Amino acid sequence: MLSTLSASASRLRRLSILSISTKLKDGFGSGIVKQRKPVENGHGFFFNDRHFFPFLVSITAASGLFGGALFVFTDAGKEVPLTTTTEANAGPDDKKEKILVLGTGWAAMSFLKTLDTNHYDVIVVSPRNFFVFTPLLPSVTVGTVEARSITESIRKIMRKKKNLEFCLSNCVHIDPFNHKVLCRPLVNFSEVEKGDFELEYDYLVVAVGAQSNTFNTPGVEKYCHFLKEIEDAEKIRESIVDCFELAALPSKSKADKSKLLHFVIVGGGPTGVEFAAEMHDLVYEDLHKLYPDLMEYVKISVIQSGDHILNTFDERISQFAELKFQRDGIEVKTGSRVLEIKDNAIVTKDKATGQITEVPYGMVVWSTGIGTRPLVSDLMKKIGQTDRRALATDEWLRVKGCENVYALGDCATIEQRKLLEDVSYIFALADADNSGTLSVKEFKDTFESIRNRYPQIDLYLKRQHMQDVASLLDDSISQKGGRPVLLDIEKFKSALSKVDAQMKTLPATAQVAAQQGEYLAWCFNHKTECKSHPEGPLRVRGEGRHQFPPFVYKHFGQFAPLGGERAAAELPGDWVSMGRSTQWLWYSVYASKQVSWRTRALVVFDWTKRFLFGRDTSRM
Ligand code: FAD
Ligand code: MG
Repeated sequence: MLSTLSASASRLRRLSILSISTKLKDGFGSGIVKQRKPVENGHGFFFNDRHFFPFLVSITAASGLFGGALFVFTDAGKEVPLTTTTEANAGPDDKKEKILVLGTGWAAMSFLKTLDTNHYDVIVVSPRNFFVFTPLLPSVTVGTVEARSITESIRKIMRKKKNLEFCLSNCVHIDPFNHKVLCRPLVNFSEVEKGDFELEYDYLVVAVGAQSNTFNTPGVEKYCHFLKEIEDAEKIRESIVDCFELAALPSKSKADKSKLLHFVIVGGGPTGVEFAAEMHDLVYEDLHKLYPDLMEYVKISVIQSGDHILNTFDERISQFAELKFQRDGIEVKTGSRVLEIKDNAIVTKDKATGQITEVPYGMVVWSTGIGTRPLVSDLMKKIGQTDRRALATDEWLRVKGCENVYALGDCATIEQRKLLEDVSYIFALADADNSGTLSVKEFKDTFESIRNRYPQIDLYLKRQHMQDVASLLDDSISQKGGRPVLLDIEKFKSALSKVDAQMKTLPATAQVAAQQGEYLAWCFNHKTECKSHPEGPLRVRGEGRHQFPPFVYKHFGQFAPLGGERAAAELPGDWVSMGRSTQWLWYSVYASKQVSWRTRALVVFDWTKRFLFGRDTSRM
């Protein structure tokens, strides 16, 4: 496993180097940014006005890079054997424990795919009987890919799993004290009879994700589009065509046209930026041929309250995106807060000057982050977790304040244990001879056995380019003339004081959700083995070891497609890659990450169709 990982890692490094060196050649990366034109000139093969060569290369790259790309996002967890030692002993009459899973998104799907269902009875409850590949949702809004190409039926994905049932219902209430939930079917035959039913569980896995956050801004619910679900993307697609068709009516004045063709995106995060880029591509690659007289009225704006767009990315990527948008004519309004959405205008306030502006719009997409689902806030209230955005769990993904309830993905947040909270216990554990002081060796030995309990230690060592835990000790403490040094509790605290600052909440991404799902399933699959031979770190406040190692997130980088066949990517090891080559890497990763061969084929087919014939803008 280790050798596979290191081979994959070196391959990945080669990939990033490859994309960076190509970037330097492709003009854009070296700072020469061309204005996007309806039909772009350059090298390569053109078909129907389309630059075909990069696409061929990207598909070739896709097949060539599959291995590496798959590693980028999927080889994150541990290998999970499909059978464990207990399977042979399990007779048909053995009562299995019941796992109830809420949701069919990234976290739930990855959990279910990895879980060995031979040992459990599993019930899945979700209002969606399909999985959505959310990273391609912005492409659905403009018809670059079709909605059904990025969805897969949950029953189809799980058809080979034993002991698994699915209920197309919303969970409306969780009773963690009596181990049951209340569900409401999505499809009812009677208006009066809701058909609610109760389900009991031994273990509950809450993976219901999050909803769009409006920050209670007036008018958002009524006038804006969200981009969270497949229906949202389809509504946006329809709305764009409506705006163009309305603007084309002979009765419309110039002012009407400018209003209707002003597309506003609130939120300069990855989703907002990607939608703006897709929108720009749609307009300048397809719509300009169909509505040539309307082009002078089209405007795309991004409103961002922070100082930069893509501010969770590396600074270089954020600058690159702003420069590209500027040259593409996409207006980026930073430092601006939306106060209200009226039926005909968007009201913003400049944070620096306090100036209030009203701008007419045709369509607004609200993409400012995520908020808590009512089901989750209700549960949080019950277990005393108020004033939070997400369910707090420990590092084993167990919800704090209740028993046998796990939460993962966007609806949860891991509350990492602070090293300093446990400092006296760790000191006592390390001080085997009860002398009140520690030698460097005692310090080192103890830390090696607890370091995976506190992932911030490894993060700190990595950031400081330190080799081992002894480097945590101040130079003056650890190397006093080469003599053995003794630490008292104060020196010990001071050696650890900086480490907790590395603690960060994990981002709400598919990457985190999928790794958590895989990790939790691994724990369930290894429950029996780990009970007799615990694999976790030493307990500092109790006896023995923890049953499992805690969840540790591995970041494999992130992409930001910027339109015009260009993307930016943050790769592991502080690599940043931008330009055309990165877009090909994006194609390869996203094709390889599809949940089934059917969706993979459909997505690649949609991309090909788009390159050959353009996007379909019919109003259905
Ligand atoms: P979800 O995937 O949202 O799944 C939640 C599930 O719970 C759904 O099946 C839902 O139907 C179900 N559910 C909801 N309410 C209930 C209920 N009451 N009872 C039962 N079930 C319920 N992340 C990346 O890493 N890379 C990207 O490129 C990326 N791009 C994105 C683009 C867009 C447009 C969006 C919206 C998100 C993107 N993300 C990306 C983020 C990523 O999609 C989320 O972080 C991820 O979906 C979280 O997974 P989850 O399982 O927690 O929630
Ligand atoms: Mg001692």
